[in-house]
Amino acid sequence: MLFCAFLWPSVEANTDAYDLLITNARIVDGSGNPWFRADVAIKDGRIVRIGRIASNTAAKTVDAKGQILAPGFIDVHTHVESVYSLPAAENFVRMGVTSLVTGNCGSSTTDVGQFLGRINEKPLAVNLATLVGHGSVRNKVMGLVDRAPTPEELKQMEGVVEQGMKDGAVGISTGLIYVPGTYAKTDEVVALARVAGRFGGIYATHMRNEGDKVADAIRESIQIGEQAGIPVEISHFKISNKRLWGQTPMTLGLVREARARGLTVTVDQYAYTASSTSLASRMPSWVHAGGFEEAKKRLADKATRERAINDMKDALKRSGFKDYSFAVVASYGPDKSFNGKSIAEITKQVRNKSDVASQIEQILEMYEAGGAGMIYHGMSEDDVKRIMQEPFTMIASDSGVRRADDDSVPHPRGYGNNARVLGRYVRELKLISLEDAVRKMTSLPAQTFGFRDRGLIREGFAADIIIFDENTIADQATFDKPHQYPLGISYVLVNGTVVLANNQMTDARPGAALRGAGYASPVAGK
Ligand SMILES: [Zn+2]
Repeated sequence: MLFCAFLWPSVEANTDAYDLLITNARIVDGSGNPWFRADVAIKDGRIVRIGRIASNTAAKTVDAKGQILAPGFIDVHTHVESVYSLPAAENFVRMGVTSLVTGNCGSSTTDVGQFLGRINEKPLAVNLATLVGHGSVRNKVMGLVDRAPTPEELKQMEGVVEQGMKDGAVGISTGLIYVPGTYAKTDEVVALARVAGRFGGIYATHMRNEGDKVADAIRESIQIGEQAGIPVEISHFKISNKRLWGQTPMTLGLVREARARGLTVTVDQYAYTASSTSLASRMPSWVHAGGFEEAKKRLADKATRERAINDMKDALKRSGFKDYSFAVVASYGPDKSFNGKSIAEITKQVRNKSDVASQIEQILEMYEAGGAGMIYHGMSEDDVKRIMQEPFTMIASDSGVRRADDDSVPHPRGYGNNARVLGRYVRELKLISLEDAVRKMTSLPAQTFGFRDRGLIREGFAADIIIFDENTIADQATFDKPHQYPLGISYVLVNGTVVLANNQMTDARPGAALRGAGYASPVAGK
């Protein structure tokens, strides 16, 4: 009977043995193995015992009956450079994320030591790791110029990457569609990735192309990994060219082939058919050389503007979309009424026109007024599913920290990504098993990014733990109403401390900086 334990405490009872005991959970341990039932005891931030554990051995007990206990999710693709201004990182915590990897797509701090060190003065609810971004390094050394580096400049960039790795970066990232990363040729990236590789880092890439030239871009990514001797992570793996929808067997095949040759190549994805990035990314990269003011000057010249417009028309045609109705504004400073509307809708409203040339004029005008954050509905659901089923795919949001009271209409992935996989793709569509989905959010990211004591429910591992109901977990955030937290996740622990309890955020800030292998010393002999 239930009350017996309370009436007859064992003589050996020692409520100090553990800080926290979680009982009656079904454990999905992150390895991909089928669930098992056990209690989990936590002490000093670590999982210290898994098994049948007497209920009176801990200062506090959480009964997880009927729920799943899993490792906290590790989101390897985020943009949380501003996390110290929102230290609760609530949008991540509420979708079960306990560790963030930022510095993606070539954009990061160039002072990794300072960035990670700030956690001591400004504690966070979640753990934080960073890559060192190639674009940021290039900007620091060369500015935004469209040319190859001189040998001296390359050396300086190598120095910045080396320092970043010694300060604890987990690797190097590129954003080869963005300024200034796009101005780098393959050999420059190889040289810098080689430095990160020497310190045990990973090469994470927003590839040069995710559309009509996606296969070439995958080949380039693999080549960089092979030549630089570094594992490759292809970020937000997708096909965003309508004409190539359905080609994921081919693109995934390229990764499989590389792996068959012994190269470490993995990918991540978010569980949506839309991407999100800047409005500027629609424009040809030559327009952006030298920065925003230079670009505006170029666009003020009639002939140059015409050339940009023609390039954009060509790019649109190649992408297989008939106009810009797939491009929706997430945030536009000068006129918030644009938020949530497509470029086609805005052009109709502002210019009473629906032709592509007018839409491009509208884009250029919004760019000149300061630019916009955008959502691009450019992928096919079948491709998203096929990528998700691949064993080497992990789940990552590509999101920043969010404020729920914000008036922007951002991509819902920052609120719903992990819950969406578990609700929609696991429970509703039965595309992958619960255990495999959790693996893609925990041990696979931990293995890939070198977090050796996280991502599994194991004695001795850090107690990053979540408790959720597999029958109710669901994303609530939609493209129309993105600022909504998911359902079904009741507890989140970071380093053994509760940051979400009974669906309520606590004030605890137990997050740690997760530093890469180079922080201690470079890998010997390389
Ligand atoms: Zn990216």
